[in-house]
Amino acid sequence: MKLLIVGGGFAGFTLARALNNDKDFDIVLIDRFNYHQFQPLFYQVATGGLDASNISFPLRKAFQKSKNVRIRLANLLEIDHENNKAITDIGEFDYDALILATGADTNFFGNEQITKYAYPMKATVQAIQLRNAIIENFENALVAETEEELDSLMTVVVVGGGPTGVELSGALGEMRRWVLPKDYPELDFRKMRIFLVEGSSKTLGTMSEKSSAQSRKYLEELGITVVTNTVVKEYNGKWVVLSSGQKINSSVVIWAAGIKGNVPEGANPKWIARGNRLIVDRFSKVMGTENIYALGDIAHMETELYPSGHPQVANVAINQAKTLAGNLRKKLRNKDQVRFEYEDKGSLATVGRYRAVVDFPGGKLHFGGAFAWFVWMSLHLILLLGTKNRLQVLINWAYKYFTYDQSLRLIFKEFNKPGKT
Ligand SMILES: Cc1cc2nc3c(=O)[nH]c(=O)nc-3n(C[C@H](O)[C@H](O)[C@H](O)COP(=O)(O)OP(=O)(O)OC[C@H]3O[C@@H](n4cnc5c(N)ncnc54)[C@H](O)[C@@H]3O)c2cc1C
Repeated sequence: MKLLIVGGGFAGFTLARALNNDKDFDIVLIDRFNYHQFQPLFYQVATGGLDASNISFPLRKAFQKSKNVRIRLANLLEIDHENNKAITDIGEFDYDALILATGADTNFFGNEQITKYAYPMKATVQAIQLRNAIIENFENALVAETEEELDSLMTVVVVGGGPTGVELSGALGEMRRWVLPKDYPELDFRKMRIFLVEGSSKTLGTMSEKSSAQSRKYLEELGITVVTNTVVKEYNGKWVVLSSGQKINSSVVIWAAGIKGNVPEGANPKWIARGNRLIVDRFSKVMGTENIYALGDIAHMETELYPSGHPQVANVAINQAKTLAGNLRKKLRNKDQVRFEYEDKGSLATVGRYRAVVDFPGGKLHFGGAFAWFVWMSLHLILLLGTKNRLQVLINWAYKYFTYDQSLRLIFKEFNKPGKT
C-alpha cells in the first residue's frame, strides 16, 4: 500500500515509525520542516531555558535505516481526492491512502490587527522569534526615551490561560525574578509587568477546580497579574485594549488563545467540523472518503466519552496513529479493524520551579507542588524524541536548577549575506 503521510508531528511521525520497515507499505512522509517539533517545550525555547535543537528531531535521522519510509521537505498546498493526488510546493504525490496529520495553527479569530502584531507559538521558529522579541525589548528598554516607551517595552501580555499561557507566564515570571535583573542591572525590574488574560473565569479551565485555583495562586506568587473573564479586543503593536476597557502598554503580546486545524485546500467543506477539524469515524477515516485518514489535532472524532471530539493533546495523536497502523495492516489482510478509544491518563501543567499541578482522570486524584513538578519533568523527558535530546534537556534543566540561570538568551536576527542587499 502506497501511503502518503502529511505532517511529521506526534501523529504522522508515530504512524511512520509504527510501519517502518513493514514491506507491505511504501511510505512518503512530508513536512514543511525537516524536523519533528516537541511543542510542549516551545515555551522554554521562547524564554531561553532550552535550545531549539534540544526539542527538535531531524526526520531524516529517524528514518536513516528505513527501507520503506522516504522523507520529503514539502508544503502541502491542496488535495485532489478524486484523482488520489496531493499537490505540494515541490510537486505532486499520488497515494493509495492519504494520512493528514497536519496539526493545528494559531487561531486569531479573524482579527487582522492582532494577527499582524501578536506573537503565535505554534512552531519552533516562532518560539525563537518570540525569544528574539522578548530579549530585544530589554535591549531597547536601555535606550527608551520616555516612561511610556519603557513601560511598553517592559510589559508582556500573554493571552489565553490554558496550559501554554500558564506555562509561558510562569517562565516569564521566573526570568524576571532570577535572570533579567542580572543581565540588565541598569533596568528596574519592579517595573516589569506580566499579564495573563483569560476569557473564562479561571486558568487551566480544562483541568480540575483544584488545579485551576492552584495554578492561579502559583502565578500570582510569581507576580503575574491574572485577569480573568476578560478578552483582548485590540492590539496595535504598542498597547492592548481589553474588553473591560483597560488599556495596557505592551510591545510583546503572546497569543495562546486558540487554535484551528490545518485543513488543506481541496478538502470537501462537508468534511469540516468546528475548530476546522476533519470529521473522522472511529477508524480515523475522513467522513465520506474511502482512503483519506486524519489523525491528531486535525481530526474530529466523536465517541460516547468524547461527544465533542478529543482534546488536542499529544497523547491522542500518538494513540490514534498507533491504532491506525494496526488497522492498515488488518485492512491488507481483510481482518476486522479496531475502533479507536482514548484512554485518558491524566493531565498536568507547570508554572515553574516546585510549582506544578497533576490531575488523574475523572477527578480521582489531584496533587501539586514539588512532586508534581518532578512528575511533569520526568514525563516530558520520556515523551521527547532522541536520547541525545533527552540528555541535553536534562543537563540544561540541571544547570538551571543549580544556577537559577541559563545561557541561551540569544537574539538570532536576520543578517545580510555579504554581496546581498
Ligand atoms: C505551545 C504548545 C504547548 C503544548 N503543550 C502540550 C502538552 O504539554 N501536552 C500535550 O499533550 N500537548 C501539548 N500541546 C499540544 C500538542 O503539541 C498537540 O496536540 C500535538 O502536537 C498534535 O500532534 P499532531 O501530530 O496532530 O500535530 P503536530 O504535532 O502539530 O504536527 C503537525 C505537523 O504537520 C506539519 N504540517 C502542517 N501543515 C503542513 C503542510 N501544509 N504541509 C506539510 N506539513 C505540514 C507541521 O510542520 C507539523 O510537523 C501543546 C501545543 C503547543 C502549541
